[in-house]
Amino acid sequence: MLLGAVEAARAALIESLGRDGGGAHLGAVAEGDRVVTHFFAATHPGYSGWRWAVTLARAPRQKAPTVNEVVMLPGDGALVAPDWVPWKERVGKEDLGPGDLVPVSDDDPRLVPGYLVGDEVLDGTSARELREVIREVGLGRERVLSVEGRDQAVERWYDGRNGPHSELAKSAPARCVSCGFLVRVSGPLATAFGVCANASSPSDGQVVSLDHGCGAHSDVRMEQSHSQPAAAPVHDTLTWDTWTDSDLEIITR
Ligand code: SF4
Repeated sequence: MLLGAVEAARAALIESLGRDGGGAHLGAVAEGDRVVTHFFAATHPGYSGWRWAVTLARAPRQKAPTVNEVVMLPGDGALVAPDWVPWKERVGKEDLGPGDLVPVSDDDPRLVPGYLVGDEVLDGTSARELREVIREVGLGRERVLSVEGRDQAVERWYDGRNGPHSELAKSAPARCVSCGFLVRVSGPLATAFGVCANASSPSDGQVVSLDHGCGAHSDVRMEQSHSQPAAAPVHDTLTWDTWTDSDLEIITR
């Protein structure tokens, strides 16, 4: 009975809108026992693909339906807002400008309390208390890189443009490990990375993997850099050159 109560649903829609704002009846679905939703096309041009949903219910032993709710819902192809993404996840490093702040949470797995060099897990309160103590007694940095944070950095750097898989590295004459411009770093990253200090290299001032390399390697000599044969000259027999008056003047001078 409720599935056939199209006119009752339309009347509820008109009453709710205060005008005849609904379009064609698009169908009805049973939501449960004696509860049915009727759908009507939304006719406002700003709501293409949206539809009005009028939910009717019928109490036991009652004939007349009652109106539960009238709402507008997106249908197939409706223009809807994209999913909400928290600010912290939306801001990328390329968005960061002078004065912008990117807060780090207390439980960021990339950091551990300053007296640790490991990945010991602390709950939020303990971590906060420890940070206070560390700050008061002046033990240096409140937090340092965790093993996880370090592993993430290694993966990023090794797979990036200054790692061994970049086009620059693949065509390099030698590796950074043998380059005089490589500045060694200390700590656990020393076995895999250094810093390039060659102003002629695109990696100048950046972390490079020891098996990265580029054409500005310190062992490259002048004769090597000229070893590529020059390309054969090309004679263009298809197009015309356009001469200006000043060109002709120079030629005839
Ligand atoms: S100049 Fe090239 S090869 Fe040398 S350290 Fe820098 S990136 Fe590596």
